[in-house]
Amino acid sequence: MSYQKQIMQAGITAYLIHVKGRVQGVGFRPFVYRLAHRLKLAGYVYNQPDGVMIHIEGFDFQCMKFFELLKTNAPLGAVIKRINKEKAGIEKPDSFKILPSKTNISAITEICPDIAICPDCLEELYGNNRRNHYPFINCTNCGPRFTLIDDFPYDRHNTTMHEFDMCNNCESEYFNPMNRRFHAQPTSCPSCGPVYTFLYNDIELNDFSLIIRQIGNQINQGKVLALKGLGGYNLVCDARNPDAVAELRLFKHREKKPFAVMFRSLEHLKKYTRITDIEEEVLISWRRPIVILEGIAEKTLPKGITTGLNSVGAFLPYLPLHHLLFDEVETDAIVVTSGNESDIPILYTEVMAKQAFQNISGGILMNNRKIARRADDSVVKVIDNAICIMRRARGYAPDPVDLNFNVDGIFATGAELSNCFCIGKEKQGIFSQHIGDLKNADTYNFFAENIQEFSRMYRFKPQHVVCDMHPDYLSTQYARELRLPFTTVQHHHAHIASVMAEYGINDQVLGISYDGTGYGTDGNIWGSELLLADFKSFERLSHFEYIPLPGGDMATMEPWRSGLAYLYHVYGNDLQILTIPFIRSIDLSKAKKIISAIDKGINSPLCCSAGRLFDAVSAILTLCIESNYHAEAPMRLENKLESKITASYSFSLGTIISFSQTIREIVDDILSGVSTTEMATKFHNTIATAAARQIQIASEQTGVRKVVITGGTFQNRYLTEKLLHLLRQMNLESYYPREIPFNDGGIALGQLAVAAHKM
Ligand code: ZN
Ligand code: ZN
Ligand code: FE
Repeated sequence: MSYQKQIMQAGITAYLIHVKGRVQGVGFRPFVYRLAHRLKLAGYVYNQPDGVMIHIEGFDFQCMKFFELLKTNAPLGAVIKRINKEKAGIEKPDSFKILPSKTNISAITEICPDIAICPDCLEELYGNNRRNHYPFINCTNCGPRFTLIDDFPYDRHNTTMHEFDMCNNCESEYFNPMNRRFHAQPTSCPSCGPVYTFLYNDIELNDFSLIIRQIGNQINQGKVLALKGLGGYNLVCDARNPDAVAELRLFKHREKKPFAVMFRSLEHLKKYTRITDIEEEVLISWRRPIVILEGIAEKTLPKGITTGLNSVGAFLPYLPLHHLLFDEVETDAIVVTSGNESDIPILYTEVMAKQAFQNISGGILMNNRKIARRADDSVVKVIDNAICIMRRARGYAPDPVDLNFNVDGIFATGAELSNCFCIGKEKQGIFSQHIGDLKNADTYNFFAENIQEFSRMYRFKPQHVVCDMHPDYLSTQYARELRLPFTTVQHHHAHIASVMAEYGINDQVLGISYDGTGYGTDGNIWGSELLLADFKSFERLSHFEYIPLPGGDMATMEPWRSGLAYLYHVYGNDLQILTIPFIRSIDLSKAKKIISAIDKGINSPLCCSAGRLFDAVSAILTLCIESNYHAEAPMRLENKLESKITASYSFSLGTIISFSQTIREIVDDILSGVSTTEMATKFHNTIATAAARQIQIASEQTGVRKVVITGGTFQNRYLTEKLLHLLRQMNLESYYPREIPFNDGGIALGQLAVAAHKM
């Protein structure tokens, strides 16, 4: 029945519907359009910065059906958070239309993260059509988003695709409501879209079919290449070729961190290791993060990738380019690592790439689609059957965290290491993508620029700024310089508040936060805290014993300093007669200087952090004397575990927990030839037990039964699962971070939450 006929009958109603959530960049308007047509409703839909507005007119039962299907049939990437509907005046439109976006609103909707190539596009990539082998193929359900968007609302002219005029074919798809590229903003084809250029030995290739073959050859021949990806340049080489991997290491300035590996397919990956259902689920999800998988040892991949660790960051192709590349190479595993030197942000412009990669052996693959902003690959790990985010970037950023309190106008600058900042919009904390260590000047500039970018895009004007209590953090200094009302939050309080905010916990919790360092209210270095906390305040119930940390910050890269400090603390000058390999492996004259520094209290701040205790034990077991990258020592220790071993060491419990006895027993074990695996496992069991006992006592004293587990140390899967197990036996409720990182990348949300409650 035509609409004209319908309105002649009674029972016609009109509704104005406002949908909020992640509803732009996910094919939502086309979905609404098709739904309205199917239900014979008239009206219109348009984007505005804070969501999608829909006006429908028709029979009331059809409208009801529309509301129902709007929620249940929404596109894959869409997240509907709120639907406000109200009766509206009859406007008698003659059909249902998509109208131009409205921009004059300061509220914003959510920006969609980048989405891996969808099954439909993958099929089309290999089909007989004009996009066969077209490396920029995408549709309303997939493709770049966050790394492409310049501004709200999400329309083509607000993306970096505005430089490319659509050809007639693409335009007719774009305006055809029945086409799957209807309003697909980044859509293009070989005749109108961006193009790849390959630079190799002063030769410039522009024909993509030649380029992809040439790149495949280079990889087959063991060369290292730079490829432009979604959020920046990646360096790639054959993961099965030890020489290629060694060359890549050289190129990355001898970076020692394990490399991530992209596998041809899930089936190929499964040949290397066993994965759980949840690991599989996240590996093939549209977010396509790097997933830390255990059990891929150097038996199957060169040691140059794993650096002797028993786990590997694995992921699957997410760009059309990756699929096309695997067609050309013999290997089923390719190293894909961010194109930068250690600790500097991923390079993302052609100018940067040409300069940085001019001496690369295999060539540089560039394209002329600009990256609006950098984003590394995200990293996740499954802990206790839950997906936990370790690095939040491509595919996850900028998903907001929904809160049950208002944080509007608050800006949290985050920590200094693994920095992410967070801005407050109404009841959402919007995290930046992973930024990195602010002590690096380039990373700091990225931080400062990214704050400007987020403020512009999200129409955000900070009214209040919040930062860490550490006076020297660059993020603290940045916050001060804004000259706005100002709050500081203790580091571990922020860690714990982040998890409370994520789970919407408003009452008191027992928060256990173990990490490397955090500035304490007594001016000492904390990092083994059990806090009785709510958002407003906290009480420090217990922590590990303070040990002087010779060299302060230097100790983080030189675990032997912590090892020596612990041994000296336990044995005093008898330390010299210990006949363990660790003592023989350190420079004795240096050791003497350090002991005298400890005695005189020179540059030896007091530290109780769990991170340094893990460092100490890793060093004493000679697993890691000097560290090549952040947290290497604890990772080497974790790498030795055997879950069948249930024994543990002694320690003394109280408001101050001492591991002196643990250290003595470890030394005795070393002397009696106990295996490193057994000692490492017993040590982990000891820490899990100590944490559980610490919590148990506090819970009995306070009656609080909600426990928050957080801090970088708990990225250790074995430790966290062990502790969770012990807490379950005590019937305590435990919460640990999932949407935000355990590490310092997660604290900005806690800062935001604490500031919101203190204001
Ligand atoms: Zn697609
Ligand atoms: Zn085209
Ligand atoms: Fe921390």
